[in-house]
Amino acid sequence: MCGIVGYIGYREAYPIIIKGLQRLEYRGYDSAGIALYDGKNINLSKTKGKVVDLQKRAEQEISLKGYIGIGHTRWATHGVPNDVNSHPHYSNSEDLVVIHNGIIENYAPLKKELQSKGYVFTSDTDTEVLINLIEYVQKNENLKLGKAVQLALTQVVGAYAIAVFDKKKPNEVIAARMGSPLAIGVGEDKKEFFIASDASPFIEYTKNAIYLEDGEIAVIRVGKDIKLRKIADDTLLDPFIQALELNLEQIEKGGYEHFMLKEIHEQPNAIIDTYRGRMLVNEGIIRMAGIDNHLERFLNADRIIIVACGTSWHAALVAEYVIESLARIPVEVEYASEFRYRNPIITSKDVVIAISQSGETADTRAAIQLAKQKGAFVFGVCNVVGSTISRESDAGAYTHAGPEIGVASTKAFTTQITVLILIALKLAKAKGSISNDEYFTHLQELERIPAKVAEALTSDENIKTIAAIYKDSPNFLYLGRGFNFPVALEGALKLKEISYIHAEGYPAAEMKHGPIALIDEKMPIVVIATKKGHYEKVVSNIEEIKARSGKIIAIVTKGDVDVKALADHVIEVPDTLELLSPLLTTIPLQLLSYHIAVMRNCNVDQPRNLAKSVTVE
Ligand code: GLU
Repeated sequence: MCGIVGYIGYREAYPIIIKGLQRLEYRGYDSAGIALYDGKNINLSKTKGKVVDLQKRAEQEISLKGYIGIGHTRWATHGVPNDVNSHPHYSNSEDLVVIHNGIIENYAPLKKELQSKGYVFTSDTDTEVLINLIEYVQKNENLKLGKAVQLALTQVVGAYAIAVFDKKKPNEVIAARMGSPLAIGVGEDKKEFFIASDASPFIEYTKNAIYLEDGEIAVIRVGKDIKLRKIADDTLLDPFIQALELNLEQIEKGGYEHFMLKEIHEQPNAIIDTYRGRMLVNEGIIRMAGIDNHLERFLNADRIIIVACGTSWHAALVAEYVIESLARIPVEVEYASEFRYRNPIITSKDVVIAISQSGETADTRAAIQLAKQKGAFVFGVCNVVGSTISRESDAGAYTHAGPEIGVASTKAFTTQITVLILIALKLAKAKGSISNDEYFTHLQELERIPAKVAEALTSDENIKTIAAIYKDSPNFLYLGRGFNFPVALEGALKLKEISYIHAEGYPAAEMKHGPIALIDEKMPIVVIATKKGHYEKVVSNIEEIKARSGKIIAIVTKGDVDVKALADHVIEVPDTLELLSPLLTTIPLQLLSYHIAVMRNCNVDQPRNLAKSVTVE
């Protein structure tokens, strides 16, 4: 979870690390810290709060000199977010210092054992146990730091991305990974190295990066080749240096007040990027290597199981409706966190699709590992290229949404849906479960969707007005049917995530089985009531709400008059095919939650308690 930045080289480490931590803020965190070696001592400063708080504090309390340093943003898993539990953590001798993302699951017995050997602990973290275990191993076995870290890690169960250095040997930094992402930036002529959770902290210094794989440890020394080994069996590995294509502009706010708003507005292009090169409308071809190379596996599947968490799970629900209706293959949608522990029936005839924006979601990773053990074919739908899930899947398709920095997912959702619609259409064509006409109509209309998303975005001012009226409501209800039921769930999730207003999404007809009791003249109810599908049924649901004086905010098809006559407010979206409508109806819901959150002075891009990339279970 969260962020790691390290530097060793010839430049002052402090500004590089602080800027790097700021770049990683999007990952969500509760505390930040830094440790620098000034040639004699380690100077450490850490605090609960944001990187700016760390900056203020560090600039007052420590020397900022040094060419070696490590910095961290923490998302607490063991011990509350406070100054002491923040990273970096010292070993007892204060010679060693570590930053860690992840969880050491067996920290309790290890802590007990270390305590019996006289080690004392100042924090409640699992991380402090790890650094003392390293120190114990180093001293007891008289090992070099790299070997001590390696041996200590063989005793550890859990997930980690770590960076460690030793004040007695300040010419090296050790980095290792199991489960949490870690990249090493290789400077020109090996004069400097960077360590980070992703490449954004070092992109302006070097385009050469090594992505550590699970179970690998790297000894990083200035002027030397990186020594990369497998932790378990000490195999020496050849580090693969990748040329980065990511550019910094992509991860800056681009003139918008928040990353989330920028990303909402990026959706027309993001959707184009998703189908670009894959959908050849005139030829009637959908080209996706991940499917093309394994078509039989999909066509012979007994069923498709989609595993995901959060917003990706909502995209999975849309996909269930789309794949079943077009390709007539049974689809089940599972929360990855439930699936992994409930001993599900999985066979080698199943195809498991895993959806994760970051490609690092711990529960989704565990779910695909389980599916693979049982012989299922695993297909990953991720945004982050080279992410763990994308590597661990048998095949996959990237969403190509570009970096998503706002913690609340927007363009990741619509691009996931786009990829899954392409897959459904491709399978339907191959199976012959839809007519040629239907197939072409869908391709042509999908090509028009980006322009229609752009049109939907023009409702911004109208949505702002509605947001101002309801921003103080303590509860919201979101209703939708068919393909738009998952959109109602997603709309409610967005509002909860960023504005901290309680909201529930429901299939519109289910309202009568409970939520209707909540409706009174104060309750805003967002109803997706677009023309196609179950329009008349939804209109009846709106009448039911009206009869109970609920406040209706309806998402309607452009030009609608019936709902307009009933609703308190309407937001129009362009007309489209029913199956593609989630790509449009979700837009006003994103904007509504965004404006409400801004009006409530909430931290839109980094909502409290949330992390962008949930790399712990
Ligand atoms: N488990 C560690 C802690 O609670 C690291 C958490 C993180 O990934 O930031 O401090």
